[in-house]
Amino acid sequence: MTTLLIADHNNQALKDGTAKTLTAARELGEPVHVLVAGEGARAAADAAAKLEGVEKVLLAEGAVYAHGLAEPLAALIAGLAGNYRSIVAPASSNGKNVLPRVSALLDAAQVSDVTKVVSPDTFEHPIYAGNAIETVQTTDAKQVLTVRTAAFKATGEGGSAAVENVEAAADPAVSQFKGEEVAKSERPELTAAKIIVSGGRALGSAEKFQEVVAPLADKLGAAIGASRAAVDAGYAPNDLQVGQTGKVVAPDLYIALGISGAIQHLAGMKDSKVIVAVNKDEDAPIFQVADYGIVGDLFKVVPELEKALG
Ligand code: FAD
Repeated sequence: MTTLLIADHNNQALKDGTAKTLTAARELGEPVHVLVAGEGARAAADAAAKLEGVEKVLLAEGAVYAHGLAEPLAALIAGLAGNYRSIVAPASSNGKNVLPRVSALLDAAQVSDVTKVVSPDTFEHPIYAGNAIETVQTTDAKQVLTVRTAAFKATGEGGSAAVENVEAAADPAVSQFKGEEVAKSERPELTAAKIIVSGGRALGSAEKFQEVVAPLADKLGAAIGASRAAVDAGYAPNDLQVGQTGKVVAPDLYIALGISGAIQHLAGMKDSKVIVAVNKDEDAPIFQVADYGIVGDLFKVVPELEKALG
């Protein structure tokens, strides 16, 4: 049997998580096909064909797939599933949107947020907001897996798979695309960034958040993140939230400014390679995970840090 990887893409290019999920998919030990469903998505399919270890790329073109609507995509995947033992997708907002529907249609239990492939049917994944790692074995005929991309290195190029067109499936016609507002930023995308500067409630206002966090992030070429308290208070937009109910990140460097280190925040960033925390409370839990801690007032420390960076 074969593994079907559902590509995350924007029609022109693959998103970073696809190549990382491919690494997990290849560890299942079976040939991997990649499904690129989109509109005008040939470029994304060609990019998938170049990834090492991809045996075949399936390209499903249709207006109904242009915006990643979960219902038609799930119908398409369920229709293809007969040829596959495992259906795998990144645990991105797309993957989390589509794969539960696929598992319901296939009557298979989904394993979410896989962080390690122990064997072809046994996986590790975090539970209780990352406080425990569970090892689960699937006994279903079909495996449906979402993969926590921060746990896997990206597979590089080196393949030359064929791209095969597949028919669009019948649209269940239960959802319609109405519009989207895409946040525009010059900064790197949060989940793909190598460096993240995150701000917490201590910033005190949206203006201070911008004044203090943004220049340091710009100096480091970093993405900006935020705690939920900062997001709830309106200091930062929702899509910057890091944590259990936000984004899960694992950059090379994570700088936490005025963030206490609540367990729900740690769930989203504790796998970062180097963690730097600035907090005026030396007992703040963030210092338990920090590699470098500065006890002090962030409004004094951050400008000094910036100066030191030149
Ligand atoms: P606080 O906990 O208020 O901490 C502020 C910190 O700033 C303190 O440690 C203080 O000492 C320090 N400080 C104050 N002034 C200064 C200064 N001038 N200089 C330096 N330090 C200073 N939270 C998330 O972040 N992400 C999530 O995804 C998330 N999901 C949740 C899901 C659930 C179901 C629940 C119940 C909670 C969730 N939370 C989440 C909320 C979480 O429990 C915390 O409330 C939140 O993370 C706190 O944010 P904070 O650290 O910015 O604020």
